[in-house]
Amino acid sequence: MNKLGPARKAATFAAAATLAIAGVAGCAKEDTGGTTEGGVALVKAGALTTCTHLPYAPFQSKDDTGKVVGFDVALIDLVAAKLSVPQEIVDTPFEGIKSGADLNSGKCDVAAAGMTITDERKKVLDFSEPYFDATQALAVLTGKEVKTLDELAGKRLGVQGGTTGEEYINAQVKEKSLNIEVVSYKDLAALQQALATNQIEAAVNDLPVWNEYIKANPGKVVVATGFDTGEQYGFAVKKGNAELLKTLNDALAAARSDGTYDKIYATWIGEKPAS
Ligand code: GLN
Repeated sequence: MNKLGPARKAATFAAAATLAIAGVAGCAKEDTGGTTEGGVALVKAGALTTCTHLPYAPFQSKDDTGKVVGFDVALIDLVAAKLSVPQEIVDTPFEGIKSGADLNSGKCDVAAAGMTITDERKKVLDFSEPYFDATQALAVLTGKEVKTLDELAGKRLGVQGGTTGEEYINAQVKEKSLNIEVVSYKDLAALQQALATNQIEAAVNDLPVWNEYIKANPGKVVVATGFDTGEQYGFAVKKGNAELLKTLNDALAAARSDGTYDKIYATWIGEKPAS
């Protein structure tokens, strides 16, 4: 199923070790919140709790052993290391993540979900510095001739609920008065399954997740066209959590300057686009 290269196997092993420690710490401490040595408040003592929405490979998905791994996971592991605690990951619907509800209710300290920084989301979340550039892409089954949205007239186009891809498509359909039936799926797996089983003519999501799908399922799907939406991903904390935000940004800056970011990028995304 999931063919991992040597670099990914190493990353998976590191993540497994992290979670094993998390299990031990979880038993030893009470879950009433805590503060790290550096003075960063945490919703649960002894761990940095991360909210995400699975699956969203290559940013976060379960490996063959059930561990959550990926690009975002590896970066947040660096933040957790800075706080001298392990990372613990909570899988929860995207709506609660992007609305700020999960951070506000103390479900987690940080949101890491391949989440695009938008003005609307900035009103309810405090974002880190951008850590990844993304665009939207239209995927179709191999052999289909579709190249543009116009060619989907009278057809069904799948999107993922609550995402920037859904917003983009709805805006295009409205603006250009396209006769497309937009069908919204609750997560990436459901969207990809609908495409694979021909329930929809095409599907839109962030380009890197299609690249990953194509790697994992060679020959099945192609990217018909891209939409340069100029998106940037950010990690998010509860509004006003300046201490944790600073730790996040410091960890990201350190990873960028010492080459760790590039290594994580190479492991999970692949070759860096020329900038
Ligand atoms: N980047 C997209 C967004 O922020 C999709 C994120 C996701 O589905 N995890 O809406």
